[in-house]
Amino acid sequence: MNPIYASLPDTIFDVMSGLARETGAINLGQGFPEWDGPGDIREFAAKAIIEGPNQYPPMRGTPALREAVAEHYGRLQGVNLDWKTEVTITSGATEALAAALLAVLQPGDEVVLFEPMYDSYLPMLRRAGATARFVRLEPPEWRIDPAMLAAAFNERTRAIVLNTPLNPSASLIGREDLALIAAQCVKHDCIAISDEVWEHCVFDGAAHMSMLQAPGMRDRTIKIGSAGKMFSMTGWKVGFACASPRLTDAFAKAHQFLTFTTPPHLQAAVAFGLAKPREHFDEMRTSLVRARDRMTLALKQEGFHVLPAAGTYFAAIDLHASGIAMTDAEFAIRAVKECGVATIPFSAFYANPPATSLARLCFAKSDATLDRGVECLAKARRLMA
Ligand code: PMP
Ligand code: GLN
Repeated sequence: MNPIYASLPDTIFDVMSGLARETGAINLGQGFPEWDGPGDIREFAAKAIIEGPNQYPPMRGTPALREAVAEHYGRLQGVNLDWKTEVTITSGATEALAAALLAVLQPGDEVVLFEPMYDSYLPMLRRAGATARFVRLEPPEWRIDPAMLAAAFNERTRAIVLNTPLNPSASLIGREDLALIAAQCVKHDCIAISDEVWEHCVFDGAAHMSMLQAPGMRDRTIKIGSAGKMFSMTGWKVGFACASPRLTDAFAKAHQFLTFTTPPHLQAAVAFGLAKPREHFDEMRTSLVRARDRMTLALKQEGFHVLPAAGTYFAAIDLHASGIAMTDAEFAIRAVKECGVATIPFSAFYANPPATSLARLCFAKSDATLDRGVECLAKARRLMA
């Protein structure tokens, strides 16, 4: 077997959701909303299944969806894209990340990654024959240290993978830090693979800024989005990759032999959803902020130290600062088995985990679930403090 995969555990998200199902625990672990996404988008998809077409859509995606992606980003982010040459539809952001890494990398290349990082980046870039250089971000600000960033680049560096808003730290990479990354990419002639799946989950008046908009990056960025995140339907697996025509051509060559295409009805329904007015996305943000604030307040009242959450639908508790002298991984296992609540340990987001004491909690849940989850966490704190 290929040693890169053979040495990997099952993803932490599947492990924790599996334990939550087995034990009947409240699942604040894997990131998915407790509600089922807008009814009109789901009805659109259902109708499209009955009415068809049900055959292969074009390899790069249906014209309707590619146009809708370009229109959406133009209207809501001020990013101008030519839908014919700069947009590819994928089966989720996960496929887009894999296609981008396969399209850009050759054996011997180096890739800069920020830690903490989403779990698919490292195995996929290793499978493409590349090696990683890490730049560690530290709580509570999670800002980029310019000297550490510069030290990670050299003549072998081919690409950088970034994620803003950043899962699991719930922080944003701001304009200044994007410019730092851009300067290194321009200096070393590198491509940025910019995972922006959380772009609509940005709170407290902040605006999402795409890597495509950073100085000098328009032709060296692959911006990746996810309809699953935008519309609270994580099972849908419809992703978008937006990049200059040259990068899009290379990207599409990798995509055509991963999945080739994505179900046509889901593409049709996502095109319908992307045309929704700005207010639709504002409402989603408002309800997520309400949930974040409810959970944060309740956790603080129970004596937890909660880190700020500027984006995504996650917030972290610091176990040590909350009086729990345990690693995040030990806590995650005991909390789900003994106290009925699933969390995600931050250590899963590092190649060489530091002694993190952070547990990630998903707040895209009903009030009742959040309240019960916090009660279970409070029980865990009493038991383990
Ligand atoms: N990147 C990040 C940072 C994510 O959090 C996720 C899923 N939550 C993905 C990629 C994968 O997205 P998709 O489900 O569209 O494949
Ligand atoms: N991205 C989701 C999270 O961070 C999980 C995705 C998955 O399970 N692969 O929780």
